[in-house]
Amino acid sequence: MSGVKIVPSPTTHPADPDERVIDATGRRAVSATRTTGLAKPWIARVFSRCGVFDKADQAFRLAALPAGYAYRLASPRLLAIGVVVSKSAGGMTPKDVEKYVHAAGAGWVLKGLGSLDSIQAGKGGVASVQWSAGPAAPLRVGDASLARDSLSAQGLCSGISDAISLVRNSGHADRWPDREREQLKRHLAFLANAMERSRFRAEKPWAEYPRFLERASGLPRSLGGAGAGHRRLRYRHPQPEAPAELSGAPSRIEAW
Ligand SMILES: Cc1cc2nc3c(=O)[nH]c(=O)nc-3n(C[C@H](O)[C@H](O)[C@H](O)COP(=O)(O)OP(=O)(O)OC[C@H]3O[C@@H](n4cnc5c(N)ncnc54)[C@H](O)[C@@H]3O)c2cc1C
Repeated sequence: MSGVKIVPSPTTHPADPDERVIDATGRRAVSATRTTGLAKPWIARVFSRCGVFDKADQAFRLAALPAGYAYRLASPRLLAIGVVVSKSAGGMTPKDVEKYVHAAGAGWVLKGLGSLDSIQAGKGGVASVQWSAGPAAPLRVGDASLARDSLSAQGLCSGISDAISLVRNSGHADRWPDREREQLKRHLAFLANAMERSRFRAEKPWAEYPRFLERASGLPRSLGGAGAGHRRLRYRHPQPEAPAELSGAPSRIEAW
């Protein structure tokens, strides 16, 4: 096999037996037969402003909110703010978002940005975890396989490393389901631990998310670490998925 060819659909059959088709369609995961995610996902809203930002402004900062979290990050010329809120909190205008962040005591995240309804709003999207199941071919990579929760991941880096790993080492394809399971297990454990550290962990959206992880992945919650008030979640490997035929749009499991 040499080179990479873009095909119109991940369901295209390879012409050559040495060719491998990769599904990199993001959260749509068109080759999956099932995707699993929160019924009311956490949605990221992004705002940015051009300017001149010094080293202190450029540092990454994150603040928990009762129904999500807000973060800020800058380059020397661009300041970006992300506000991630569970869909269960309802629709919010930029002004509502601003009030909500201030009311949660996290107004410092917005410092230097000006009023949110007067600045550039970027492309947001679903920020909570989603994973897929389906046939062994095509191989799903990046968000099509596991769209990580942005609270504990680097989605771009993970997706690129998936694709490079498959192109560089053809033997990896046989072990892909093992790798997917390992990555899912590791991500869910990171995520569950991050959730437990939130100052708002008793609030409904924060409390429901770990319950969803536990139930959707079929993984038991085990207590460990330093005892009450500092519990850790551990996850067993999810069960391997039975091979399934491609059947149009993936069904969705989300009723938790
Ligand atoms: C608001 C927000 C902020 C984020 N910030 C960061 C960050 O700072 N750092 C980071 O690492 N990650 C971040 N992420 C996550 C990151 O964007 C994703 O993990 C990453 O884009 C996944 O890449 P991907 O190529 O797997 O999927 P995508 O980027 O979703 O690309 C999939 C592509 O496939 C196309 N497609 C879908 N269906 C079909 C079809 N049937 N045929 C052909 N094409 C199709 C789509 O149009 C899309 O262009 C962020 C996500 C969000 C929502």
